[in-house]
Amino acid sequence: MADLSSPALRGRRSVLFGLAALAAGVVVDAVVPIHAQGARMSLGARTAGPGVGSTGTRNAVPDGASDAAPDNAPVAAPDNAPAVEPAPAAAPAPPVARAAPTEAELVAEFSGRRPTDWGLAVAGVITSTPAPQLALTFDACGGPGGAGCDHRLLETLRRLGIPATLFVNQRWVEANPGVARELAADPLFELANHGSRHCPLSVTGRRAYGIPGTSGVGQAYHEIMDNQAVLQGLTGRPARFFRPGTAFYDDVAVAITRRAGLLPVNFSINADAGATLPAPAVAAALAKASAGDIVIAHFNKPGSGTAAGFEQALPRMLARGAAFAQLGRVLPAGAVAL
Ligand SMILES: [Zn+2]
Repeated sequence: MADLSSPALRGRRSVLFGLAALAAGVVVDAVVPIHAQGARMSLGARTAGPGVGSTGTRNAVPDGASDAAPDNAPVAAPDNAPAVEPAPAAAPAPPVARAAPTEAELVAEFSGRRPTDWGLAVAGVITSTPAPQLALTFDACGGPGGAGCDHRLLETLRRLGIPATLFVNQRWVEANPGVARELAADPLFELANHGSRHCPLSVTGRRAYGIPGTSGVGQAYHEIMDNQAVLQGLTGRPARFFRPGTAFYDDVAVAITRRAGLLPVNFSINADAGATLPAPAVAAALAKASAGDIVIAHFNKPGSGTAAGFEQALPRMLARGAAFAQLGRVLPAGAVAL
């Protein structure tokens, strides 16, 4: 994987995004106000392209947050950590037809590289988009205490016709096979890859919230691709987006994710801090969201404040003209294939 921080590639990336965004009718020049306070991550100045992590934002843990607040972290903040624009009747553009590399190929390519960065927004991780819509993303982490399904939250989205991208972990899918099939068949929702064992994605075993990361290229490969096979079985297509358990990566793992054909995605608004926030705090975080934001919350913790917070906030957001789209709509296929 090439160095994404190089000026040449940044330029190329912007061009690619620009072209794809134009093709998708996206307003490329939209500049979104930046709020450094509250639940919003402190991001660098936005450009015409999607927000991509940089060294200036690494380890920028959102307020009160920890996936960022891992769903199953053994700490108080758990791991868990258009108006409505419904999903289009036609399927989004298919992923670039390209064979995923094998484990041996990835090991050969990346095993000599040592990471130099670590965090939620390292270079190459998408944290916002150039689109006029907001993208709601919900994680389902699985594992002890994290294998539930917040049907109240999903029904709220359905009642309001608000699309969302659901990052599901393999453990959660295996604990909820019927619901997973139902979600895969619902065009309002887009399934994305939240890892196989819910590990921080690392090549050195680095921990986040006390959870050990993958400890080499081979483990990182399996963390991504084992669940990728599960999702392919559910939806019939490769998932396009990846977010690791705890949302932490090192920069080599980010490059591995992209080389495997998935886009590493995190967020600009942390709405529920791993489903630990009470409803008013969730609603207050959402009130700060605007065009181009990627919102993270969780749908594996029924009984948390998440569903009630979204119930409070979403009608207000619709009333002020907010529009919502799945990540697959605002990050068109091909635009990110560096
Ligand atoms: Zn998670």
